Amino acid sequence: MMSLVDLLGRPLRSLRVSVTDRCNLRCRYCMPEAEYAWLPREDLLSFEEIRRLVGVFASLGVDKVRLTGGEPLLRHDLAGLVRLLARDARLGDLAMTTNGVLLAGQVEALRDAGLMRVTVSLDTLRADRFTALTRLTTHARVLEGIDAAARVFSTLKLDAVVMRGVNDDEIVPLVEFARERRAEVRFIEYMDVAGATGWSPALVVPRAEILARLEARYGPLDPIGATAWAPADRYRLPDGATVGVIASTTAPFCSTCDRARLTADGMWLTCLYATRGLDLRGPLRAGVAPAGLASLVEAAWRARSDRGAELRAAERERGIYLPAETLRRDVHLEMHTRGG
Ligand code: SAM
Ligand code: SF4
Ligand code: SF4
Repeated sequence: MMSLVDLLGRPLRSLRVSVTDRCNLRCRYCMPEAEYAWLPREDLLSFEEIRRLVGVFASLGVDKVRLTGGEPLLRHDLAGLVRLLARDARLGDLAMTTNGVLLAGQVEALRDAGLMRVTVSLDTLRADRFTALTRLTTHARVLEGIDAAARVFSTLKLDAVVMRGVNDDEIVPLVEFARERRAEVRFIEYMDVAGATGWSPALVVPRAEILARLEARYGPLDPIGATAWAPADRYRLPDGATVGVIASTTAPFCSTCDRARLTADGMWLTCLYATRGLDLRGPLRAGVAPAGLASLVEAAWRARSDRGAELRAAERERGIYLPAETLRRDVHLEMHTRGG
């Protein structure tokens, strides 16, 4: 196969697969509204359909797959999907991002099915803050899930979205919490993606400030050689622990973006900010063969020029990306539908 690159020379290597748009939390940076419309259940891809589409992507060079959502563990028997995907030897990395609420009871089944890595989102160590941030009272279950994952998986990451005045005083406590569990915490700048209708520049804590707070506590940080296609800048603390910072708002990494997203109903998106996608469910259910599906994907990737976060960063007056009325008209625009 001729190497598949987009118009900016970026390969297609990584696929985030959203397995459901439903969620059991309502994080205020992702799902701040009171009501949501959902993808019709009959449109959701079956596990077998997901397996077939992932196989198409693997034939085009994708070797990293991350299951996400919504909350992926709301999908019944997610381990069954993992087992199907893990059979594909072309996938060198099979991971999942979860809010952790339902994780404790499923970690062993997921590992046994072939899941290689887990990332749990954890923005706060305080139960009261968790409830204010997510509108749910399941903080203790998230912590149990993290402890269970730390016991079962050798690689565990914790993702924290940092919001000014909300949880930015927990940067050091989160590092300590992660270190005790041999996990790596990654601090994510609050992004103005669709769904984040409460976003404002004043709430973003830039990477430079996150690093300054870490250095004030730990001393000089040692940057770990960048992996060209990874979004996080990683640093080693003087005692050897590592942390990551994802500067998706102030220093976007579009120029090295090798990832795309598949929604739970089979819409393929070439950028987190894309307002349109390629429907793969239609052709799949119409019986188009894998080679035909691969041609559709290949053509779309060759025509890709997306650099959504960079374009947003260049805007002078930067408010919210899309208003709630627009999101209500098209659930595909939502962050919880495209999977983060
Ligand atoms: N529900 C799962 C979870 O929360 O881990 C997986 C889906 S969630 C959409 C994936 C990631 O997107 C989470 O780590 C979440 O913190 C992140 N995210 C959602 N909205 C965000 C925003 N406005 N800015 C930065 N990260 C965001
Ligand atoms: Fe929070 Fe993830 Fe649910 Fe969004 S999809 S509300 S980030 S738990
Ligand atoms: Fe990739 Fe789009 Fe995110 Fe840029 S904004 S890093 S192109 S998904």
